[in-house]
Amino acid sequence: MPERGNLLLLGTFIHCKSVQELEYIHNAAVAVDGNGKIVGIERDHQDVEQAKGALLKSLAWSASDVEIHACKPGQFFFPGFIDTHIHASQYPNAGIFGKSTLLDWLETYTFPLESSLKDLAKARRVYTACVRRTLAHGTTMASYFATIDVDATNLLADICLDLGQRAFIGRVCMDNHDISPEYYRDESTEKSLEATLKTVEHIRSIDPTFDMVSPVLTPRFAPTCSAELMTGLSVIQRDMGLPVQTHVSENKKEIELVAQLFPDSKSYTDVYDECGLLTDRTILAHAIHLSEEEASTIARRGSKVSHCPCSNSALTSGVARVRWLWDKGIDVGLGTDMSGGYSPSILEAARQAVLVSRHLAIGLGASAETTPEELERSQLMPEEVLYLGTRGGARCVGLEKRVGGFEVGMDWDAQLIGLGSVDAAGMSEDDEHGNLEVFGWEKWEDIVPKWVYTGDDRNTKKVWVKGRLVHSRA
Ligand SMILES: [Zn+2]
Repeated sequence: MPERGNLLLLGTFIHCKSVQELEYIHNAAVAVDGNGKIVGIERDHQDVEQAKGALLKSLAWSASDVEIHACKPGQFFFPGFIDTHIHASQYPNAGIFGKSTLLDWLETYTFPLESSLKDLAKARRVYTACVRRTLAHGTTMASYFATIDVDATNLLADICLDLGQRAFIGRVCMDNHDISPEYYRDESTEKSLEATLKTVEHIRSIDPTFDMVSPVLTPRFAPTCSAELMTGLSVIQRDMGLPVQTHVSENKKEIELVAQLFPDSKSYTDVYDECGLLTDRTILAHAIHLSEEEASTIARRGSKVSHCPCSNSALTSGVARVRWLWDKGIDVGLGTDMSGGYSPSILEAARQAVLVSRHLAIGLGASAETTPEELERSQLMPEEVLYLGTRGGARCVGLEKRVGGFEVGMDWDAQLIGLGSVDAAGMSEDDEHGNLEVFGWEKWEDIVPKWVYTGDDRNTKKVWVKGRLVHSRA
């Protein structure tokens, strides 16, 4: 049984054709069936009416049986964003850092808030707000860290399914009693594994094939986890084929701490590798201060990196080398890392990815191993950061065949973007479009970078996940 009626989308469609290249599809029509799948695309017609007619005819659909969404002037469809690293439980702390860096920020701000979400009414309030807000910014898929609490984590899965956001749901594992605070840690290694399996079972009960929401095994990061726990999680990973997410090499003090806690391991990356956690379904957040050898290990295992530029700047962690990671053959996506990052928006993360790559090109934050040629090549262009936020992210979560672009057979996970325009007298048409104003003479190749630099959620007019309209501004 299809979940809903057929859809027809009309207008301009823009998506990433490759890492460097955007494809502009004009005067086009896209057909989406009741299961949310793209079943037909007609493009480059004289006008959308012609595209619509041709598509209806080829599918033997009648116009009266389909729900139609047509672009107004200045609007275009873009694939939904994928946030490969976000802490739903930290949403209320977005923008609160003090002067802290990673380790004291965790103690002062993060652990107290996360532990308080065992109050389920509070968890429901925080998670509902987080999912609604990220949907409003065009995030159609998010890989979430929740908390250590099973019931609150299960609630996040329920909320994502209910509000229609695709999600990985991670119950946070932390059993190292020397590092995790007494009030916020798993009682023991066994209890941590048991609690993780409870969340897996809950999600299986609400979404048996993990089609929309899937559990993700989530050792918080090496300092809060015993080797036994991480090895136990890798056994579950192999048994069930589940994704894994954690942090790696975010901050120099953190790296020193890992070296003290795991003196027999050659590197931070090797700690995870020795526990069997580096798989082709593993997402590693940050990966800033990696050595050549660590990057080679990550590439060999097929593990992915979530680049979180807002967080890396806000917590003074450093500058991740995206081009260098790409050169090693590692898949990279974008993460907000809220609330290490202050913004729930992947568009903001994309913008910041451009800016921090410029810092790298200037030489700021480059490691001693970075060559002058690498520095010069390190700058990212708007097209490339949009790739990170869509197809790159899809590869990180293993959904590259289903989301991240507009192709027949993929799911309709998309956003409708609207631009403001300036009239002859220099007045804005209205305030609904924020800072993104066009004058009418811009080429599409200029409009997209303008969106990357000046756009925000006011430009995200509608959002669909798997064909379901999950957000609408007007
Ligand atoms: Zn994080």
